[in-house]
Amino acid sequence: MNRTKMERLAKLALENGRDYSELVEIKPIRGGSINEAFYVRTTENEYFMKFHADAPKDFFKSEAIGLRLLKETNTVSVPNYYSYSDQPGNSFLLMEWIEGEEAPDTEAILGRKVAQLHQCYGRMHGFHNDTYIGLLPQPNKLLPNWLEYFGTYRLGSQLKIGVERGSISGERRNKLEKLLQLLDKWVPTFVEPSHLHGDFYHGNWIVGPGGEPFLVDPSFLYGDRQLDIAFTELFGGFSQDFYDAYNEVYPLRDDYEDVKPLYQLYYLLAHLNMFGESYGPSVDKILVRYVGD
Ligand code: ADP
Repeated sequence: MNRTKMERLAKLALENGRDYSELVEIKPIRGGSINEAFYVRTTENEYFMKFHADAPKDFFKSEAIGLRLLKETNTVSVPNYYSYSDQPGNSFLLMEWIEGEEAPDTEAILGRKVAQLHQCYGRMHGFHNDTYIGLLPQPNKLLPNWLEYFGTYRLGSQLKIGVERGSISGERRNKLEKLLQLLDKWVPTFVEPSHLHGDFYHGNWIVGPGGEPFLVDPSFLYGDRQLDIAFTELFGGFSQDFYDAYNEVYPLRDDYEDVKPLYQLYYLLAHLNMFGESYGPSVDKILVRYVGD
């Protein structure tokens, strides 16, 4: 993005966020996988700003709602957000700048606080708004039955996208459809609908002042907490301290190891649909494990 546009957007974001002081500095920082990211400083404050040139409908609104719902649990730390816009070509999210050094107990605190987050329950599974996983749409609904929500709205919606995009066809499609029929063997029907981050891999938590861990970039839903924990294990990067602290506060259930690959399958399908066939073999391996050759 050119400098003039960067400044114009930052000023718009600051005004919307009620900071009318002078813009002193704005610089691009290495962002995540999807958006351009900036460090923004005014005479009053420091900010983190995300920008996407072609964000889909309600993209940053959805992230902002997720941040707010996580924050309202008063468990794990989450950056404040100040303003967002989903206007085509002008979409941004302005939030609190978070910076700090990891402390020896940072990951234990993260484990404990995520467990406390998971002890906050909604009334039903899913969410009333559609959200995103990466840039893929994640249609949602609130349902009392977790099995139905996860089967239809999570695996089912990735199956649909994959069929449309041609990344799920032939044997892979047959096996996935068969798995959806058999899902009740492993996925629970009635579990507590916990507040979930929904996209909880090691890139989506950061360290703030005093070594405090902060969650960022949620794809919020209410659901089985084991979904969040299963995803931490898919791409790794969480220490044993994290798991020990989590289990101390809220032990994983006995069915965790059996259901884990099915929860990981959702994220693998999303990656397959977004990034292509390099995720295909991991998807197929899980399908074979559950429905056979
Ligand atoms: P994307 O949506 O593009 O994946 P993220 O929200 O994950 O972007 O942010 C990208 C990176 O920017 C994060 O991995 C983190 O290193 C950094 N980051 C995110 N939020 C903040 C923040 N509030 N303050 C400072 N750095 C942040």
